[in-house]
Amino acid sequence: MSQVIALKPWERKAYLESLDGHLSMDGVDLVTLAAHTGTPHYVYSEKKLRANAAEMIQTFGDIHPNFTVAYASKALANMSVLKIFRDEHLGIEVNSGGELFKATQAGFTGDQIVFNGVAKTKVEIDAAIAAKIKAINVDSLSELDRVIDCAKQGPHPANVTLRVVPEIQGGGTAGRETGSASSKFGMTPEEIMVALEKLRTATDVTKFMGFHAHIGSQVNDIDAYRAEAAFMIRFLSDIKSSLPTELKHLNLGGGFPISYIDGRNANPGPEYLQDTYSAAISIEDVGKSLIAPLRDAFGPEIELIVEPGRSLVADTAVLLTRVEATKRRNKLDWLYLDAGYGIMLDAVFSWYFPMITASRTDDEDTAHFRIFGPLCDSYDAFFDVRGEAAIRKLLEKEPSLTDHKNLLEKVLLHQPGMKELAAKTSIGDIVAVFDVGAYNIDTQSQYCGRLQPAVSLIKLDGSIQEIRNAETEDDLIARDS
Ligand SMILES: *Cc1c(COP(=O)(O)O)cnc(C)c1O
Repeated sequence: MSQVIALKPWERKAYLESLDGHLSMDGVDLVTLAAHTGTPHYVYSEKKLRANAAEMIQTFGDIHPNFTVAYASKALANMSVLKIFRDEHLGIEVNSGGELFKATQAGFTGDQIVFNGVAKTKVEIDAAIAAKIKAINVDSLSELDRVIDCAKQGPHPANVTLRVVPEIQGGGTAGRETGSASSKFGMTPEEIMVALEKLRTATDVTKFMGFHAHIGSQVNDIDAYRAEAAFMIRFLSDIKSSLPTELKHLNLGGGFPISYIDGRNANPGPEYLQDTYSAAISIEDVGKSLIAPLRDAFGPEIELIVEPGRSLVADTAVLLTRVEATKRRNKLDWLYLDAGYGIMLDAVFSWYFPMITASRTDDEDTAHFRIFGPLCDSYDAFFDVRGEAAIRKLLEKEPSLTDHKNLLEKVLLHQPGMKELAAKTSIGDIVAVFDVGAYNIDTQSQYCGRLQPAVSLIKLDGSIQEIRNAETEDDLIARDS
């Protein structure tokens, strides 16, 4: 045969593979694991976590040696994972006093920590100053006043970096854009001028470090990174003479994309979904478009920082979930899983995750299914409930829009209506949801009286460590009176 056809397009060599008809991770049979642990259950790979961290450090470090990768811990702030990342020489980005606490408990030292957030409390700022962190990324003029006040009372000066609005649209979906003045983050260049003036009169209690920008999440557009670099270069040449002291660092934020669609689901839906979910951009591309121009403009002395979250952890985990019920409606097969958005929040935002039938990886016959979670809530579905309903309503109200159905789908639909699984998938089968490692563990709830599941880590030696235990029914009532 002249053509090689991948029978299992989701396979990733030596990581996610088929083993005797079962999905395996790092050689561990995940269906057998799920039989022991119960479902739903999250499984992470230590090997993949370390590989992602090492690759990012190497790629950016090769371009600019004075480089820090500060892991955005809100993507996954499990203590075992934080310790692994510290061991891999990542720094850390925190968003709250709670994350600052976790970072220091995991062994990060102050000089490895940067602190973002739009509404830091005095208590949080005091803690950041006491821990002598590398940078408090100040988000507003009112916050700068607060930091200066805290620093006047505190034991050390506050290291201050200013978050600037670069006016760049990036981010996979609305709500994931953070780089424009219409989003809630950062200061405009005019506000920055006022901030610099304030800092010039407070050099006894503050230390000016540099500037910060973060343009969004799952930013799958290379032009957005080029624009961010160009903005920083232009902006700094405009304000150079107003800096209170020498520029120490530039923090470029995170938002680097991963590929949620790369042939692992044979039914990725319409092409426009691939704009968001099929990462056309690699870490090397980000290096070339964002890091290299800044190195060329500012020279070897300046420290460059990035804050990736999703791209370090998303593809390091799968969620194992069991089919608990089925229906046949409108000639479609429906499956009900034991995992819903209570333990996978991004599902409620119609985020796309690839799925396969983990207990039937050798089956060649496939079929399309509508897939739902167990919660008593219509949004608990693995297709785009809101988008589909909005398009239907618009077309009912305004039939002439039918000509623009493609455009409506592009704007409103974020997830295809059906998923392709093994045709025999039925009650008792284990479905694996891929690339769930970011923004799912830390956003879980007990909604509908459901317990947050345990999380396993497959260690480098192949042994399995429970890195977060499952809630029990007692946890459902423990905090109520
Ligand atoms: C959330 C966040 C990040 C990480 O974004 P990812 O898309 O997960 O890489 C980085 N910096 C800031 C300021 C953030 O709020």
